[in-house]
Amino acid sequence: MPKQISILGATGSIGQSALDIIRSHPEQFSVYGLSAYSQIQAVAKAALEFQAKVVVLNHHQQTTEFQEHWHQACQALAKPSCPPRPPELRFGQEGLKSIATDAEVDSVVCAIVGTAGLASAYAAACAGKTILLANKEAMVAAGELFMAAVAKHQATVLPLDSEHNAIFQCLQQAHAQQYIQNVILTASGGPFRQTPLADLSHVTPEQACKHPNWRMGRKISVDSATMLNKGLEIIEAKWLFNLPWQQIKVLIHPESIVHSLVQYQDGSLLAQLGHADMRIPISYAMAYPHRVSNNSRSLALHELTQLNFSLPDLQRFPCLQLAYQAMAASQSHCLVLNAANEIAVAAFLQGKIGFTQIAQVIDTMLQAHQTQTFHQIDDVLAFDSECRQRTSQLLKQPLD
Ligand code: NAD
Ligand code: MG
Repeated sequence: MPKQISILGATGSIGQSALDIIRSHPEQFSVYGLSAYSQIQAVAKAALEFQAKVVVLNHHQQTTEFQEHWHQACQALAKPSCPPRPPELRFGQEGLKSIATDAEVDSVVCAIVGTAGLASAYAAACAGKTILLANKEAMVAAGELFMAAVAKHQATVLPLDSEHNAIFQCLQQAHAQQYIQNVILTASGGPFRQTPLADLSHVTPEQACKHPNWRMGRKISVDSATMLNKGLEIIEAKWLFNLPWQQIKVLIHPESIVHSLVQYQDGSLLAQLGHADMRIPISYAMAYPHRVSNNSRSLALHELTQLNFSLPDLQRFPCLQLAYQAMAASQSHCLVLNAANEIAVAAFLQGKIGFTQIAQVIDTMLQAHQTQTFHQIDDVLAFDSECRQRTSQLLKQPLD
């Protein structure tokens, strides 16, 4: 029987790569549910191609648009006279939670961007599902509660983020965890690795979204440019691999060939290498503990001229420093870091603030925060929305 998969965030960059792997292996994987927020045509086409049982839209008002696109897609089929059954439509956060927890579902690809994906990822954990996690913001905002739910309900988390997937691959030997000295996350340094510091305040959203090595959604592209993405990833690594923050290191590696490394106590350094193609980590997690082909190119080491590594410049990338501070401080500081960043990045993408003000906004929000403890996911969600409102208020005042 093929594995039944729900993809939360099916229209995004990760969601589409996951569908590409399912397309190549219909005998192993089958689509149960798909979700979309605004790209209704894309999800209608995917639902038809993969015969999804359920589609989750953001709200009821998108129903007619979905039906129109569904019928158009059916008419484009070779045999329009016998159209397939349309999927059941569900809506909003409740719909997302339902396709993450329905009994038929084996694995849930969590590929929504931001804490909008937290409630459904958490629901999948509480239902004991296999979670293929791309949505790092969920882990940053609520890693402690999330991993407790995973343990309590015997769920499994398999990382899709390329760095964590690489570390996971390097930890496959029995008892590996107890001999870790450090994990080292690599970072490309993004589009502004060599931009003169004085020019950073003037860079545009288009420049920030032009990542040198990866094609990704706009929010994560800006996060890569500020390196807050690596900041979110060190926090994600802390929870995924149960490590103290002192054992989580970052190295700039502009070629994005070595995706991350584990340094063991005996001096061995294990790494996972490959081209910058998210289908590699996604297919690894989908087929785990097996491997499947994924249409990516094989890496020919002899074709590489050099691999460079250096320590990150924290003056250039203050967001990385802020993430280390938040991680060392508390879980609620990490939540504030993430919420403030989501609002600041949205404002930057809308041209309301400058690039260097993203770090300023996060810093101001962190400095005003005092540690809080959360016992339930609803408390996390409520505090997350409070932090967003406070960050939005801050943005109404003139920034330095
Ligand atoms: P994207 O912008 O391409 O896609 C985001 C998806 O989330 C879309 O399907 C969209 O419909 C959905 N979505 C957006 N807002 C929503 C909301 N409020 N409610 C419900 N659904 C919503 O983003 P992406 O690049 O695919 O990234 C998705 C996640 O994966 C992010 O957390 C990102 O950090 C992580 N990630 C991405 C990559 C990558 O290469 N793209 C790599 C590692 C990790
Ligand atoms: Mg990554």
